[in-house]
Amino acid sequence: MEERRPLRLAALRAALREREADALLVTSLHSIRYLTGFSGSAALLVVFAAAPPVLVTDFRYAVQVQDEVGAHATVRIEPSSLWNGVREVLATAADGTRLLFESTHLLYADYERLPDVAGRWQWRGSVGIVEALRERKDAGELSRIREAVRIAERALELTLPGVRVGMTERQVAGLLEHHLRDLGSDAPPFETIVASGERAALPHARASHRALQPEEFLLIDFGASFEGYCSDITRTFAVQSANPEMRHVHDIVREATLSASAGVRAGMRGRDADALARDYIESRGFGALFGHSLGHGIGLEVHEGPRLARTAEAPLPPGAVVTIEPGIYKPGWGGVRIEDDVFLSEDGPVVLTSFPRELLVVG
Ligand code: ZN
Ligand code: ZN
Repeated sequence: MEERRPLRLAALRAALREREADALLVTSLHSIRYLTGFSGSAALLVVFAAAPPVLVTDFRYAVQVQDEVGAHATVRIEPSSLWNGVREVLATAADGTRLLFESTHLLYADYERLPDVAGRWQWRGSVGIVEALRERKDAGELSRIREAVRIAERALELTLPGVRVGMTERQVAGLLEHHLRDLGSDAPPFETIVASGERAALPHARASHRALQPEEFLLIDFGASFEGYCSDITRTFAVQSANPEMRHVHDIVREATLSASAGVRAGMRGRDADALARDYIESRGFGALFGHSLGHGIGLEVHEGPRLARTAEAPLPPGAVVTIEPGIYKPGWGGVRIEDDVFLSEDGPVVLTSFPRELLVVG
């Protein structure tokens, strides 16, 4: 596979020059992984506009960092604190060096530890520099997301025959997570949502001890993670049987998902993508019950850019992988969400998920 790290570094350096900065302190571990390949849980990275990047980590990762990063950064193994390492890396920088930090990732306590924060160097906060680069996936990233989708769909397929009335939501989540692991997923990228009955009306319900009952919804929102990249899928099932109201609501959400997945395009504003599903759900009289946005980018993180939301003015970049996840949530009754993952190619949308969207009956 083509080595992308030098290209990512070059793109980041161009972004630094645009912002008239000499360096960026990267504290987001996802962005550190993106730029250097390092997947450990403790690291700081300084990317200079005109010198090799320096990755600071600790002795626990001495072997791993050499394997993963190779020559893509200068590595410092720091015996005490990573911040000491950063301080030493910057000690040789000239007075007035213009340094950026990631405002959305740096803790205030760590901000106060930035080397010489009010002195020789000019520190400035910045938002989303690396994240903006990460929105466009390359071929290697896309193939990892495809694998994460494949694992997730297979795990769901293996889980459903084991679902029974009387099982708790947690037991369903446990079964699903067992299959995900068994099929090669890393740890789940987010806490598996299993919501049944009236709890399906809570868009971000945690799996609880509630037992499944006949003729109610079972909403499962979950993902797999493969070599750092996530999938994010939702399907809503009927337990044992479905009444006409359940079928009616499910049909509307399915139609909204299908038409938005078919209609979404790179270059479209996030708000126009959101409208693809929202206008339809509104036209069917359920607009007030679709209270969240249509979707989000996925990649190294399960929620990343771009946003597909009523307030999203930015155009969707070609190469992004986004979720399309409309839902209808009726408090006290239940809810339906159907979520697919879609690659925005230059030639149009490619739906990566293929698990059936019809209302399947389980249990
Ligand atoms: Zn989801
Ligand atoms: Zn999602």
